[in-house]
Amino acid sequence: MERLVIANWKMNPKSLNLAIVLAGSVKRHLRDTHGVRVVICPPFPYLAAVGRQLKRSGLPLGAQDMSSEEEGAHTGQVAPAMLKALGCAFVILGHPELRRESGETDFMVNGKLRAALKAGLVPVVCVENVAQLMKALKGVSKSSYGKIKVAYEPSWAISTRKGAKPARPNEVRKMVQRLGAIAPSATFLYGGSVSAKNAGVFLKKGMVQGFLVGQASLKPREFAHLVKKTGFG
Ligand code: PEP
Repeated sequence: MERLVIANWKMNPKSLNLAIVLAGSVKRHLRDTHGVRVVICPPFPYLAAVGRQLKRSGLPLGAQDMSSEEEGAHTGQVAPAMLKALGCAFVILGHPELRRESGETDFMVNGKLRAALKAGLVPVVCVENVAQLMKALKGVSKSSYGKIKVAYEPSWAISTRKGAKPARPNEVRKMVQRLGAIAPSATFLYGGSVSAKNAGVFLKKGMVQGFLVGQASLKPREFAHLVKKTGFG
């Protein structure tokens, strides 16, 4: 099965310059790395420009959030079709930072997940526990589960949180088993302080198929190494 690395650039005003360096760096490493797909998720205002830059590198583009609404009076929101028009193939949903800072609820994540599937975007839904996944999947047909990427992302493990540490591999394995029992055909990722150094341990015995990466995705060299560790090169 193909592995996946999702780069979440968060609110990084340097995304444009970064795209140029990163695209080249990852591309060089991917030359001798197989079976790993790298998705770049810049902030909304940079999607078009980063997408143009990445076109030549073959790296798919993703967004960090979207509206569950297709159009209308939703000031400040971005519709699924708008992301598609910009060349996005993926969208991160229910990120713990949005849940915490913007009051994103399980109900909202569920609406967005269903809207993403309807629009033909690949949803990368972040969950911290089984209840969040069950609520996110409410009303979603089981036949669609195979299109969904589920990132087990405990908020306390996100590197920018004070005192954050990656989850213990055993903990990740147990949680991914429990999540996998709910949606066996989904792809499972881990997110939270992942680096080139610790990536290997989470991939052992097919624990997860890849990662959602924040901080380390902003350092082209480090990120390229992480990608190499994730692939089968
Ligand atoms: C994230 O932002 O989704 C994340 C996992 O961040 P970090 O890799 O920095 O912990």
